[in-house]
Amino acid sequence: MTGANKGTRTDPYDVIVVGGGPNGLSMAAALVASISDISVAVCDKKPFAVPNDARSFALAAGVSRMYETLGLWDRMTANAAPIDHMRITDSDTPDLSRPLFLSFDGDVVPGRPFAHMVPNRDLMGALLDYARDRITLIDGAEVSGFNGSGAVAELSFSSGDVLKASLVIAADSGRSKLRDLAAIGTFEHDYKQSGLVTTIAHTLPHNNTAFEHFRPAGPFASLPLSGNRSSLVWTERTDRVAAIKALSETEQARLIENETGHTLGEVTLLEPIQAFPLALRLAKKMIGPRLALIGDAAHVVHPIAGQGLNLGLADVAALAELIVGALRNGQEAGDPQMLLTYQTWRRRDTALMAGMTDGLNRLFSNDNPLLRVARDFGLGVVDRLGPIKTGLIRHAAAAGGTSPKLMRGQVI
Ligand SMILES: Cc1cc2nc3c(=O)[nH]c(=O)nc-3n(C[C@H](O)[C@H](O)[C@H](O)COP(=O)(O)OP(=O)(O)OC[C@H]3O[C@@H](n4cnc5c(N)ncnc54)[C@H](O)[C@@H]3O)c2cc1C
Repeated sequence: MTGANKGTRTDPYDVIVVGGGPNGLSMAAALVASISDISVAVCDKKPFAVPNDARSFALAAGVSRMYETLGLWDRMTANAAPIDHMRITDSDTPDLSRPLFLSFDGDVVPGRPFAHMVPNRDLMGALLDYARDRITLIDGAEVSGFNGSGAVAELSFSSGDVLKASLVIAADSGRSKLRDLAAIGTFEHDYKQSGLVTTIAHTLPHNNTAFEHFRPAGPFASLPLSGNRSSLVWTERTDRVAAIKALSETEQARLIENETGHTLGEVTLLEPIQAFPLALRLAKKMIGPRLALIGDAAHVVHPIAGQGLNLGLADVAALAELIVGALRNGQEAGDPQMLLTYQTWRRRDTALMAGMTDGLNRLFSNDNPLLRVARDFGLGVVDRLGPIKTGLIRHAAAAGGTSPKLMRGQVI
């Protein structure tokens, strides 16, 4: 293990976050930005470095408000682009016409777009810059044991080091080791789909429009970046991925032009395609003794609505608010009643988002002609999508009274 204080600190931390991904680093940043005299460490098995990947995230309006409140938003938006319009079609790739089933124009609240596209590199760069001076970062720290039953939690690492904390927060990915160590099971469903991700340049402007084409193999989304560039999240059946990755970049570009219905003109790939297997994975509990799960450790959802990280960052905002409240009331960070409140608060939102993304994927990602006809004519898709659209916009805005304060732009 390396890092300031590494394994040598004997006093327990208030909070140790395991996992230095976007959720873990945001969690630590929200705590140290909101209350002084809190001791926070973030441990990761890998070095803390800005990732070299092609991904960009659609960060919802409530999330941009949270980062603004924490003083982080301006640090991550040099290459960000607003999503001002959404166009969703139900179409197979060869279809000549692509019926528009859902569209959205305008801000969720005046002056605040539905979402911004932020490259992962810029998001992580900003979080790491902020964390380096303010948070104990411990790398080479692979968790191997956890005991939350005592007066403090004990966290052991494969190096043999042991750290103690009032509360341990698991942000260690969808395959969370800490979740397993705490014997928290999951509900799982393998979509047998993969998310292909890359960045493209194109000859026609996107006009800050996000396009999503629901096709039998899964949704194909192009999301606007700065200039004539877009980020792709392209769902395919996993058994087709190897063949697509084996194509030359020119062949891949022609395939992408077809998938976009040529709405973006001629396409050039700016990065090699990366593939992520897609699954639904929900932790059966979001807490244990002196333990809270956030982000993908708590829930992995289909990227059909681009909400996975947004859901995790809502966990961050809620848990930070509760921990800060507990400490100000003279309680400790691992207070069991506070943890129960966290679980009750976040489970409903998680279940709703998991159900919505799963339902959309099941309804649209198939080539059953009967279902397609039913979708298009019999079931009144526009009517069905209306409430989903309202729900998504409301979720993105996070303006409701049950949304965490940070996502409503209030300090905690
Ligand atoms: C194709 C695709 C597109 C997506 N697009 C969007 C989008 O547009 N908008 C959106 O909101 N979400 C999106 N998501 C979801 C988003 O990518 C995830 O929700 C998010 O990256 C999860 O972040 P995290 O910090 O929870 O976990 P991770 O980013 O997985 O970080 C986990 C960290 O924990 C560390 N770790 C793991 N195990 C251990 C251990 N045993 N000990 C110590 N450290 C450990 C890892 O090294 C890593 O640094 C998308 C997902 C996919 C697959």
